[in-house]
Amino acid sequence: MNSSASSKPAGAEPLHDVLIIGAGPAGLTAATYLARYRRDIVVVDAGKSRARWIPTSHNCPGFPLGVEGDQLLKCYRDQAANYGVAVTDGCIARLEKLADEAFCATAEDGRRWQARFVILASGVVDEMPAMQGLTEAIDCQAIRLCAVCDAYEASDAHIAVLAPVDEGIRHALFLRSYSERVCVLPTDAEAPDPDLKAEADAANVAIRAPATAMALKEGKTEVSFGDGASALFDTVYPVLGSVAQSGLALALGAKHDDNDELVVGADLETSVPGLYAIGDVVSALNQISVAVGHAAVAATAIHRRLARNFRENQDA
Ligand SMILES: Cc1cc2nc3c(=O)[nH]c(=O)nc-3n(C[C@H](O)[C@H](O)[C@H](O)COP(=O)(O)OP(=O)(O)OC[C@H]3O[C@@H](n4cnc5c(N)ncnc54)[C@H](O)[C@@H]3O)c2cc1C
Repeated sequence: MNSSASSKPAGAEPLHDVLIIGAGPAGLTAATYLARYRRDIVVVDAGKSRARWIPTSHNCPGFPLGVEGDQLLKCYRDQAANYGVAVTDGCIARLEKLADEAFCATAEDGRRWQARFVILASGVVDEMPAMQGLTEAIDCQAIRLCAVCDAYEASDAHIAVLAPVDEGIRHALFLRSYSERVCVLPTDAEAPDPDLKAEADAANVAIRAPATAMALKEGKTEVSFGDGASALFDTVYPVLGSVAQSGLALALGAKHDDNDELVVGADLETSVPGLYAIGDVVSALNQISVAVGHAAVAATAIHRRLARNFRENQDA
């Protein structure tokens, strides 16, 4: 695709300008930018964007009435398609650096692509709580996964935070800006840090007994405590961590933080030359606006590093 022709060494795959791994908000925005820079790109996606879980986002810039995650993904995909981008379904299983500094990516089914630059936009995968009716609970927001995203919509609700106790207290204190009724359901048996416990007490954040089961009940989350007692919460925020989908970069020696999220420079290049990372997989705030900002910066930096692609007169 696009006017920047891919070169093809004899007997090898064509050498594209850029391979984008992942087609969530980050990857699709990078695709739109690079296609509009008339670059030759390939986008490969495993089809599991975190954004597909979003019932309605109210903090995504440009959507004053909110936007559903699926609708948002369709908008990004349609916009990229307007410039000739076709997303290839597939999961990249291996990424190698070739002797000439280009990259070779191999999908799980053996398909291969070569590119001068790679943008890893592969996101993270949330650790979900064990719960009967989990998908429906996320849909009706009896379970919420991102306080930065939607705590505003939970204002004055009866809220529980399901997390290791210290993490749970930190999260509950953040949520106290939105509701007086916030408590912690600890998932570990640790004693809380004394300073945090004092802050929780001062903020009227109770630390409850550990939950033994959760179920969706009448649009709320019913939490059982094992002694026959139970409580109904308008919403529960599980804070159980996430798994960064950074393995392809880690295998090439890319720098990362304690959560395996990638450490990048100002233009989103990882410590592996030519390998860029954008969106949730980067060690930064996991938000759509951040992901699309990353994409704009990385795509523009790569365009400037590639050989110039002067346009020929199309009428000639
Ligand atoms: C319930 C929920 C509500 C949210 N609400 C909001 C909100 O209101 N506002 C907001 O700003 N953010 C919100 N978020 C966060 C938002 O969804 C993410 O920040 C955003 O999706 C990150 O975009 P991304 O492109 O980096 O990653 P993703 O959207 O996760 O996309 C990554 C893509 O890469 C693919 N992939 C991974 N590995 C490979 C591989 N090896 N080969 C090929 N493809 C691969 C995945 O399948 C996926 O399609 C919410 C998240 C959740 C779960």
